[in-house]
Amino acid sequence: MQQYQYPTEMFFDVHHKSNPQSHIIKKGARQQYNNDNNDACAICGRNDFKVGYLTHFNRKYVSVLSESYGEHSSLAHPENRLTCPYCESAIRDEFVSLNGIIMNTEFAKLIIGKQNSKLGTNNSYITARDIAGYLAEPPSPPFLMAFNKNASGNKGTHFLHKAVINYSRDNYIITMYDEQIHVSRDFVKRYLDFIAKNPGKYNRFTPQNIYKSVLAANMENKTVKSFPALAADMGFLTECCTSNNLKIIYLLHQGKGESKKTKKE
Ligand SMILES: [Zn+2]
Repeated sequence: MQQYQYPTEMFFDVHHKSNPQSHIIKKGARQQYNNDNNDACAICGRNDFKVGYLTHFNRKYVSVLSESYGEHSSLAHPENRLTCPYCESAIRDEFVSLNGIIMNTEFAKLIIGKQNSKLGTNNSYITARDIAGYLAEPPSPPFLMAFNKNASGNKGTHFLHKAVINYSRDNYIITMYDEQIHVSRDFVKRYLDFIAKNPGKYNRFTPQNIYKSVLAANMENKTVKSFPALAADMGFLTECCTSNNLKIIYLLHQGKGESKKTKKE
């Protein structure tokens, strides 16, 4: 089994098949420099690369991070000037608005949109609707699941370098931008079973509202009445309301249960 320490190296190998096309923007190709001093990559922190790319904006050159980039505290070494080739291959215009990446050594799936039909025949792309299936049945290890700040919104930033590579399919860590969320696959499965057995409008579902109302014995509350099975199962409801599980539930419902507007595109 090929082991990976750095998510961007896995992306370089799997998505780009170890041979990314040069990233050419209006001003030309990205500016390369020899890493003679073995400096750490500004993005991921590795220092074992011979040739890197200029990280920060400079009027004369074409850099990896744009002038408007504002998330320097998420970088391993924002003070350094070079980015490694692996991170460079992931920090490109085409990936900045992705909602997430699900990847192992065999495939990289790029999440784009909630549920759209613009994906065409390129099977690298999936939608936020597909997230639940991957959370319940993670890819064979090593794998990662990294989500942007908002797993289905339009505004994104670079998030892959914050991903965690997992070796267990039963207990694993996903990231939402720079936040790590511990996933128990057992919980994911029990939750999906529960909502399958107890249908309802889960798309705007907030378990903590039910929890609050049940604690206050406010059984006439609208949310409580909408989800009677959950309101009646305080043990499971409490489990749903942990910080990790609330985020997982949010992901499980991405792109689901929403009214479909068919637009011609
Ligand atoms: Zn790097």
